Amino acid sequence: MPSEGQRPRLSNRVEQAVLRLLDQALAYHPDACRCPRCRRDVVALALRRLPARYAGSATGEVLIDVELQRVQVQAELLGALDQAIRVVKARPHHDRPA
Ligand SMILES: [Zn+2]
Repeated sequence: MPSEGQRPRLSNRVEQAVLRLLDQALAYHPDACRCPRCRRDVVALALRRLPARYAGSATGEVLIDVELQRVQVQAELLGALDQAIRVVKARPHHDRPA
């Protein structure tokens, strides 16, 4: 097994894009909770509905990020976030023991 330091750094670009859009999606739900727990739940739930896009290089990251900026894709990400916010709003986890 490679040690922690040798593991290649892979980031799910969809996760970055969803995190960037979270506040925009929350703007449509003024009554939704914004605590760190609920925000994390929303992002996790949205990402479950979306295919992950991993980049293995800086060039790959740029190409994926350009793709993720497309209006159609942004709408898809916001739609997934919107659904996730509705689910978390209906059953927030923040008042339950972790
Ligand atoms: Zn909360």
